[in-house]
Amino acid sequence: MTKPGLDADEARALAEDAADALAPFRDEFQIPKNPDGSEQAYFTGNSLGLMPRATRAAVAAELEDWETLAVEAHFRGKHPWMPYHAFVREDLAALVGAQPSEVVAMNSLTANLHFMMVSFYRPTRERPAILIEKHAFPSDRYAVESQVRFHGYDPATALIELEGDQPDGTISDAAIERALDEHGARIALVMLPGVQYRTGQAFDLRKITEAAHGKGCIVGFDLAHAAGNLALQLHDSGCDFAVWCSYKYLNSGPGAVAGAFVHERHARTERPRFAGWWGHDQESRFRMGPDFSATPGAEGWQLSNPPILALAPLRVSLAIFRRAGMDALRAKSIVLTGYFETLLRERLDRVLEIATPREPERRGCQLSLRVRGGRDDGRALFDHLNAIGIVVDWREPDVIRAAPTPLYNRRIDCLRFVREVEAWARRRG
Ligand SMILES: *Cc1c(COP(=O)(O)O)cnc(C)c1O
Repeated sequence: MTKPGLDADEARALAEDAADALAPFRDEFQIPKNPDGSEQAYFTGNSLGLMPRATRAAVAAELEDWETLAVEAHFRGKHPWMPYHAFVREDLAALVGAQPSEVVAMNSLTANLHFMMVSFYRPTRERPAILIEKHAFPSDRYAVESQVRFHGYDPATALIELEGDQPDGTISDAAIERALDEHGARIALVMLPGVQYRTGQAFDLRKITEAAHGKGCIVGFDLAHAAGNLALQLHDSGCDFAVWCSYKYLNSGPGAVAGAFVHERHARTERPRFAGWWGHDQESRFRMGPDFSATPGAEGWQLSNPPILALAPLRVSLAIFRRAGMDALRAKSIVLTGYFETLLRERLDRVLEIATPREPERRGCQLSLRVRGGRDDGRALFDHLNAIGIVVDWREPDVIRAAPTPLYNRRIDCLRFVREVEAWARRRG
């Protein structure tokens, strides 16, 4: 039986959405509306995640504590500000598969990448190089290149760039191994993404780490598109450090406080670091002595007392991930993106090419799409979709990214996307 006004496909999508155990989480988010009051089909949780309904009150509570308790809120606030970073520690660790002492919420992503490189990129004449991907996110490239120059080396020789070797432009494990075989002895640091932002390719962190450690390289990952998307096992991957932001899949708001992971083996490292008082041993921090002594673990890289108004949304968001469970979210994500992909392949194969790997273990929730007509058609479709409330984003030169996230996207969103593209393609002729 189909409801009046629904065809069989819609009825099935809605029924399957209703049967999804994680479906109620959608109600915990503010879904942006179109001018006619209908809800948008929001596919850009990989760029800026939606706002949880609980976030407004959580930020307001911190403002109230400031208003009424002022400096005393450090100790007597509803969530006392002094240990505030610790309120997110356990959930953050669970989210990325780390021990609590291995993670910290601080700064922003690119800043954390620099601070980690200060400790973990220590080039020598024999081993000056960083291995990155050729099409790295610009900020990562600027960070890495500026670090190379800062140490007095030349990026022309000390940046080794991995090129996509697959027909779809993705990078195979074999290509990474070849690069390590060829250049490993010169590589100080391997710096790769967890999920590539343009292609949506997911990398095998453990395999990369083992191969790179085998050549004596340090390994760091940028997990901007992996945190809250993949069920990460950072501790077991063995990587030395990782960084990520919290405004994409982690739904913690624009410019949210970022994250960093430092593997336990470096908890008491003697490596140099750029220090600040919040990274000082917590027992003696307020003795205000002149000599820095790092608190063990990732928290030892903190510089400043944390931005409470910005941490409140992260606390709210991580609690949602804790209740939903990253493994359950990932399981749903594989099914949802699989459904989306099947629809695209069955109905739009002549219109869209999928640039993201087919194997679920080689991608997260995002699918990167190219319009077969070329860049201008791609731009036209992108503009059309956004104009009708199907929110996707565009990455130069020719990619439309669509990320059905398991916390708030549904099959019916994917079906709507596909139908609107079908109608657009028919009109275009
Ligand atoms: C989103 C993203 C960034 C953004 O960096 P910010 O410091 O948060 O502005 C950097 N690198 C990658 C890979 C990203 O996906």
